[in-house]
Amino acid sequence: AIWNLGSINIDMVYALPHMPQPGETLAATSFEQGLGGKGANMSVAAARAGAHACHIGAIGPEGKWCVDRLTEYGVDTRHIAQIDTATGHAIIAVDPAGENQIILYPGANRVLSEDQIGQALSAANAGDILLIQNETNMQAEAAEMGRKLGLRVAYAAAPFDADAVQAVLPFMDLLFLNEVEAAQLEEATGKAPHDLDVQDVIVTLGAKGARHFDGRSGDVTDIPALKVTPVDTTGAGDTFTGYVLAALDRGLPMAQAMAQASRAGALMVTRHGAADVIPDLKEVQNAKF
Ligand code: ADP
Repeated sequence: AIWNLGSINIDMVYALPHMPQPGETLAATSFEQGLGGKGANMSVAAARAGAHACHIGAIGPEGKWCVDRLTEYGVDTRHIAQIDTATGHAIIAVDPAGENQIILYPGANRVLSEDQIGQALSAANAGDILLIQNETNMQAEAAEMGRKLGLRVAYAAAPFDADAVQAVLPFMDLLFLNEVEAAQLEEATGKAPHDLDVQDVIVTLGAKGARHFDGRSGDVTDIPALKVTPVDTTGAGDTFTGYVLAALDRGLPMAQAMAQASRAGALMVTRHGAADVIPDLKEVQNAKF
């Protein structure tokens, strides 16, 4: 199983005639609301890929529909707490050129308790995967707990924060970075991906594919990307991560796990939206590129 300590966000997307200036009041020409948050995206991806994905998180009073939707997508939601703090949300302004500006309110995602995480993980089995990203509190505490319980601890260093990654590094078995995050981590620590003391480091490179650094053998493996015409790259990395972990949880070797994930990531960039459009394993296997 995959235990995902992760964010749940309501994405509110407003189309605007131009970006608002300070002091300006501006009417949006359209509005769409969807489920988002890196945590939720990764839980949905892992579940759609066939894993038992158990989300550990929190929502506020107006977020019940997010839990319903996660359940609909196959995520185990029994460890999502309902609390009095507002549900995390992103207010996303998009101008006619497709440029965006985002206000993010972490809300309930940042008030998780160690108790809640401990309670959830008490049902985990050694060898299960614990996944963490940088959109909740309690990251290092959870990672340490996971390590003690014999779980494989995976970390997606997004949104990037050098202190947050470094706090989890001692407990980490797998690390997911995109190209920019890999450069930021190297700048902060002086260590390139192959210098980190982590068993598996995976760097995604967008249309250039992805690269695996094996911390035991020192081997570096490149997985090519598939050729598609991108329309919206939102959620590609999250989908890739969820798919890799679901495949590893099924016992597939890393190269196969990444090959499957790159098909899922490629499909994702051909679609608008986040959690709501993540493909399932059948679609990923049957897709023609
Ligand atoms: P992030 O969204 O975190 O920045 P990337 O952009 O590196 O992550 O994308 C994650 C993965 O999704 C890539 O490794 C690749 O497999 C797939 N992907 C992303 N963009 C494209 C693209 N333009 N064409 C094909 N595959 C893509």
